[in-house]
Amino acid sequence: MLLDSVVEISRRVADTSKRLEKIGLLARLIRQLSPEEIEIVVQFLAGQARQGRIGIGYAALRDASTSPAASPTLEILDVDRILQNVTEAGGSGSQRRRLELLQTMFARATEREQQFLTGLLMGELRQGALEGIMLEAVAKASGISSERVRRAAMLAGDIARVARAALETGEAGLTQYDVQLFRPIQPMLAQSADDIPEALASIGEAALEYKLDGARVQVHKSGDDVVVYSRSLKDVTPALPEVVELVRALPAKDLILDGEVISLLPGGRPQPFQITMRRFGRKLDVERMRQELPMTPFWFDLLYLNGGRLLDETQARRFTALSELAPDSLIPHMVTGDAAAGDEFMEQALARGHEGVMAKAIDAKYAAGARGQSWVKVKRARTLDLVILAAEWGHGRRKGWLSNLHLGARDTEKGGFAMLGKTFKGLTDEMLEWQTHELLKLEIGRDSYTVHVEPKLVVEIAFNEIQASPRYASGLALRFARVKRYRPDKTAAEADTFEMVQRLSGMKDAAS
Ligand code: AMP
Repeated sequence: MLLDSVVEISRRVADTSKRLEKIGLLARLIRQLSPEEIEIVVQFLAGQARQGRIGIGYAALRDASTSPAASPTLEILDVDRILQNVTEAGGSGSQRRRLELLQTMFARATEREQQFLTGLLMGELRQGALEGIMLEAVAKASGISSERVRRAAMLAGDIARVARAALETGEAGLTQYDVQLFRPIQPMLAQSADDIPEALASIGEAALEYKLDGARVQVHKSGDDVVVYSRSLKDVTPALPEVVELVRALPAKDLILDGEVISLLPGGRPQPFQITMRRFGRKLDVERMRQELPMTPFWFDLLYLNGGRLLDETQARRFTALSELAPDSLIPHMVTGDAAAGDEFMEQALARGHEGVMAKAIDAKYAAGARGQSWVKVKRARTLDLVILAAEWGHGRRKGWLSNLHLGARDTEKGGFAMLGKTFKGLTDEMLEWQTHELLKLEIGRDSYTVHVEPKLVVEIAFNEIQASPRYASGLALRFARVKRYRPDKTAAEADTFEMVQRLSGMKDAAS
């Protein structure tokens, strides 16, 4: 099939807000594809190439850009093959070779295909929201129940492979994707709510648990064999011997546990996320790290026990089974439908240094991803008022607008601003238009991609974490930064300081 047909469907799916229509469009597309194409296209539509991150930057794409072809001729399999060659190009002259390959591909692409490919390679088409719709589309196209497709995708950890199997061999093809010890399951994720009353309004009576800011782990055990998987399903067993020992000692022949491990200070308060994550670095002296930063697991789910899978049991039943199995390592929890009691629990979690609270529907099954509202996280929102230092020209849909903002905090020690990251997330079309005009008025210099501005405009940025980062001279970077709103009421002198950011990050003692 031509890439153009995929681009067309992608556009039509984006253009309609009707879920059923999106599903119908995708199902029709999937039915027309060969098995090999299914795997590629399902990934494309989720915003990714089969090859994963290809490691091409804006500069390389700019160098590869050529005038578009007049009519579409690029096949999906051509694109996949070229991207594969780009990924595999190595050794001396590989840079040139990669560029040539990209140029050939772009020269054969029409204008809208070029835009699609640029978005794909820059990771800008990635949209998690499409995942649920894609599962429904695979179900519709294959005639298999969506429940069954979803289960297989969760267990396979990969929709593209499941889509191919479903269409190639039907329901029988999905039997290979059942719960199996030592094959990790995609973890269940959470939606967000602003506060406890909102979470309880959507769930009703709920199990509330502390939300710890550590590392998600899924642990599989069979007899003395124990394997610990990370959130991204990597085997991290060697890094966590104390977790392995604890699980080995649990009174069960085999099991799969879901939980969070975190490094606690002697008084029981949590270390910042960054510190816990040190236990997962490369080439560690594990024994020494274990002494310095012992890890404590807190289990919140039990997915498999003694030969039986519990995924389809309710949260309440799974948690009861877990409480009997591992009473000493349970996540702090309560069950309530009462907002005041929930608020009190939240205050307690925050007072003990935790991130917030998870609210879980007690009658919900375990399901991968963040579909529905079965798990809802409530965090105290973290925002910073930062100053815009520069902005990059957007491309694709944002071409002609200044988009990606460079963000800085006021550095009261050294003077000037400490750069903390870039973001174009959260910007509406109106904001893009407004900021382009305002920033151009403040221009002090530019290169081909970036306009540098007088540091005057203040913008409120929401973020999830502050992490150590070698990328910026400040040594810190915001994770998942997004624009909440502009703060025209503030001057740059009133923006948040770098010192405050350091404190929030836990990199600087609050008392200093
Ligand atoms: P977030 O990464 O902010 O979307 O929140 C989801 C993550 O919170 C999960 O992947 C877990 O790593 C973590 N987490 C901490 N405490 C809990 C809990 N009680 N239940 C589920 N997830 C938790």
